[in-house]
Amino acid sequence: MIYLFCGILSGAVLGAICLPLFRKEDTLESAIIEETEWDLLQRKKEVVLGNMQDLDFEYKCGKLSEADYQKIRGEMSAEAALVFQEIESIEAEADLDALIRRELSARKAKTTAATISCSSCGSSNPVTNKFCAECGAKLKH
Ligand SMILES: [Zn+2]
Repeated sequence: MIYLFCGILSGAVLGAICLPLFRKEDTLESAIIEETEWDLLQRKKEVVLGNMQDLDFEYKCGKLSEADYQKIRGEMSAEAALVFQEIESIEAEADLDALIRRELSARKAKTTAATISCSSCGSSNPVTNKFCAECGAKLKH
């Protein structure tokens, strides 16, 4: 009996030593999960809003009865509200710096895809161009 007790005790001690290590890993992992969860929710939001748009369109085309429309629309609204709430709670808890960095990199990606207009002829060229494709003038970046 005493051996059993010792076994449990040493197990508990070992657990207590190891637990902080596991916990550290847990928080690190949950931070990563939170980040991808945010991405997932953003996509979910797009899907839900897209579905609502489709539903409105189908209703306007007369494909749905008023009752069906109200029922589905209500369900979708509830789902959208849930997604918005989840996004808000994640953003409130999340590292704001990480969010800002993400927004900035998204902006940067958009900027690189943007165009630049030629100062001599006014035609728009990809930002990556050094010279205007229309008149050959040097593009001022
Ligand atoms: Zn030009």
